[in-house]
Amino acid sequence: MNYFDNSATTQLAPEVKETLCAYMDKTYGNPSSPYREGRLARKELLRARAQVAQSIGAIPGDVDNKGELFFAGSGTEADNIAIMGPLAALDGSKRHLITSVIEHPAVLNTFRHLEKQGYEVDYLPVDRMGNVTLDSLKGALRADTALVSIMYANNEVGTIQPIREMAELAHEVGALFHTDAVQALGKIPVDVKELDVDLLSISAHKIYGPKGIGAIYVKEGLDIKPYIHGGHQEYGVRPGTENMLGIVGFATACKLLLEDFEVRNAKKQRLAELLMKGLSESVSHIYFNGNDESKIPGHVNVTFKYVEGESLLMSLNLKGIACSSGSACTTGSDKPSHVLTAMGLPPIEAQSSIRFTVGRYNTEEEVKYLVQEIPLIVERLRKLSPIARRNGA
Ligand SMILES: *Cc1c(COP(=O)(O)O)cnc(C)c1O
Repeated sequence: MNYFDNSATTQLAPEVKETLCAYMDKTYGNPSSPYREGRLARKELLRARAQVAQSIGAIPGDVDNKGELFFAGSGTEADNIAIMGPLAALDGSKRHLITSVIEHPAVLNTFRHLEKQGYEVDYLPVDRMGNVTLDSLKGALRADTALVSIMYANNEVGTIQPIREMAELAHEVGALFHTDAVQALGKIPVDVKELDVDLLSISAHKIYGPKGIGAIYVKEGLDIKPYIHGGHQEYGVRPGTENMLGIVGFATACKLLLEDFEVRNAKKQRLAELLMKGLSESVSHIYFNGNDESKIPGHVNVTFKYVEGESLLMSLNLKGIACSSGSACTTGSDKPSHVLTAMGLPPIEAQSSIRFTVGRYNTEEEVKYLVQEIPLIVERLRKLSPIARRNGA
């Protein structure tokens, strides 16, 4: 399989798999138990927390004191807790919230839920390259804005937002700032102190770790209420016996990120550029989406005019190429991508768009294979399309 859908999920790194196997041999204990098995698990939990915290510059907690990093059931759950948790801890007098139209469903649908709870939400627009402008944020901020949530890097087009500047604007009116950094982690530096955010969410399976484990950064001193109720685990932020395999795997994935960070991302970007160059030279009537000046490495979102995205996806799949149209979360629905339409693409062209995301394990040979196969498939599909013929494609 030529896997070019690394923004949907990534393969488990062999090093992570080793960690999981070693952990399974080591203990099955509950980190809350007092005897040896429990103590071993507790030690591993603390070690893993410190490792994940380090990867984003957060303060890890210890046995007695909560720090700034809490594990959650997924990136989605991390987003939910990071947005709803602090609101539940506030006195409720501030009823205004701000997010953007291009957020992941984990954020968008949380805000839709909060609207039903009586909050007023502004959904900021984006420009043609997928950027939320600082001016639009400035214009939307109010004295009663409780929280702003803007994603660090977009999962469909890869556009990076100026999070530090945005957090600063939010803080000027006393609002909290959250960023969904799930796509940013591992591709660009993510440092919570540098960004000066109050809340941030990440997920392990987008960085070669296990699925079903995420984490939330909560700035020291900020109160946050759990929305599921249970025991004292994760310092009360997210009760429930810890997913230890997920957690230790997440930690190893974070450790790997810090090794060869620059080299790996330079390689992803080189392969992405090779793909873009190859497609530009061999396929007519295409254009690339996103902001070339400010995009995560390895991200290629391309519109093949006069081709139905789903048909192209299926044909590529038959050739052993995995990629996505829109985002995995919306595949299966026939709606055009909410991100691409928000950027101003006509719906028909949004539906003709494909996302290729290069990951750590992709090779130049694979990219060459894509550049060889895609033009043939696009040509065949366009031959079947009267609209394509009419437009000379
Ligand atoms: C994948 C993703 C999520 C959700 O993470 P899960 O661990 O799959 O729940 C949230 N935000 C962004 C930007 C993502 O790409």
